[in-house]
Amino acid sequence: MKCLTINPEAIDIDALVERGTSLHGHCGPFLVLGIRMGLQALTLLHHPGYFGLRAESEAGSTPPLSCLNDGIQVGSGCTMGKGNLSIVGNSRPRVRFVADDGASISIEIRADVLRAVQRGEIDELGTLLRRRPADELFAWTSPTSPSTASSS
Ligand SMILES: [Zn+2]
Repeated sequence: MKCLTINPEAIDIDALVERGTSLHGHCGPFLVLGIRMGLQALTLLHHPGYFGLRAESEAGSTPPLSCLNDGIQVGSGCTMGKGNLSIVGNSRPRVRFVADDGASISIEIRADVLRAVQRGEIDELGTLLRRRPADELFAWTSPTSPSTASSS
């Protein structure tokens, strides 16, 4: 069985948002933010996505915040069906990504971006969110490296 990979540098973000919209049913800001967040996790961890990585989301199961989780599935390839996406919290737009080699990172939507989305100040249904630099959308911990995690 051939497994797919995701290359965040080469991805067509518009096509990916379209795919996400087909999965999710509508295109909202949290869907787009989830896609961007998943891609950013792959970039920071230098990971090909889909397998060998798990995502632990604190975005819960109540829309619109939980729409983030569908974006995570599209952007990182961590999915409910494969068991490598789990919901571990219920109120925070933060996701921890852990690679099989022990490297991990937590990424959270910046407070100012979250407020703007919640106030409806970011409209165009995510068009702006597709192109903004990741560091203007998210804050993240510095990745823990596999060597420090596994060295005795
Ligand atoms: Zn939604």
